[in-house]
Amino acid sequence: MKILVLNAGSSSLKYQLIDMDTQAVLAKGLCERIGIDGILNHSTEACGKLKFEIDMPDHAVAIKAVTDALLSKEHGVISSMGEIGAVGHRVVHGGEYFNSSVIINEDVKKKIEECSALAPLHNPANLTGIMACEKAMPGVPMVAVFDTAFHQTMPSEAFLYPIPYEYYENYKIRKYGFHGTSHYFVSKRAAEIIGKPLEEIKMITLHLGNGSSITAIKNGKSIDTSMGFTPLAGVMMGTRSGLIDPAIIPYIAEKENMTVDEVNDILNKKSGALGISGVSSDFRDIEEAAKGGNKRAQLALDMFEYSVKRYIGLYATVMGGLDAIVFTAGIGENNISLRENLLTDMEFMGITVDSEKNNVQGKEAEITGAGSRVRSFVIPTNEELTIALDTQKLLG
Ligand code: AMP
Repeated sequence: MKILVLNAGSSSLKYQLIDMDTQAVLAKGLCERIGIDGILNHSTEACGKLKFEIDMPDHAVAIKAVTDALLSKEHGVISSMGEIGAVGHRVVHGGEYFNSSVIINEDVKKKIEECSALAPLHNPANLTGIMACEKAMPGVPMVAVFDTAFHQTMPSEAFLYPIPYEYYENYKIRKYGFHGTSHYFVSKRAAEIIGKPLEEIKMITLHLGNGSSITAIKNGKSIDTSMGFTPLAGVMMGTRSGLIDPAIIPYIAEKENMTVDEVNDILNKKSGALGISGVSSDFRDIEEAAKGGNKRAQLALDMFEYSVKRYIGLYATVMGGLDAIVFTAGIGENNISLRENLLTDMEFMGITVDSEKNNVQGKEAEITGAGSRVRSFVIPTNEELTIALDTQKLLG
């Protein structure tokens, strides 16, 4: 069976067509500038990377552009639409409705819409993608895979905020967590490498990318995670502040004569590593600047490291122990010095790192040091494959 994985944003649409027999990616790409003009980036092994300018007034036209590219005689990979057995959609927010992936029906769409208030930038776009796909591919079964679902196992003491309880009841204000598909994928893979059921392992998974989140996984379940009600919470990120004293928000609003929305925008887009370094949100640029003697760039790296390291101690404590640490996503998979620093001076917790094994980028590797009780891994994440596997499982 071939499964099409779609990730619709407000003006973009990412796709991968995966052959489930071999797990090979047959084609992948990205539609950009939907509703503005339209660019299709499409790549296959045979044709390499191609770019087309196609007018895309809405997502339905973008999906048509994707299926045309997949069917194309010159750069396509299928000969008829009948070859696509199912579609897996990434949906950012499932609220408290979904603790696992589901086959999409009218009720599911209604609930995704209800969750739009919790993810106003993402859920409406995800829903648009689903509806456009229904039109373009009638009768093809579709599955929704939620970023929040994996974290629905958190206990109430971890997911509630100490604010009036009615706000949870009336407005659903609580911690939801994100990147669930990634945390789930790498934790499962780590358990396979360790050779023990995930249910018997206490693990911390560090998804460190432009957006970063850290999850405590005990007995195969997410019991706490660093992102919260929104993806602004937790560790410092590329442009997001992560955890700050909430009283800073009205204080900045007053000092800078801003609205709360404007301050929220600053915390999402101009803070984090970009705000501290003043250089970039990209850790490669920041590292280069730090090497060149830029002190604020070095400070941004030190602050990021510190904000991540705190979670290792915190989550080992709440789990009552630790067996494994997993690094994933752009920074986790590629930043050798950050991993080394995070795992240094951690002997008291039974953690050491092997510098030679840690000298790896973008590849699966065990980096555990000699005599280390806790095992450490680099595991490249693969959210698309997880979505495709869930889709296949649900459709039997
Ligand atoms: P992601 O959001 O997972 O794509 O991660 C983006 C972050 O990963 C950026 O801050 C990049 O600087 C970092 N990153 C990606 N590739 C590399 C690399 N080869 N070396 C160091 N950092 C990288």
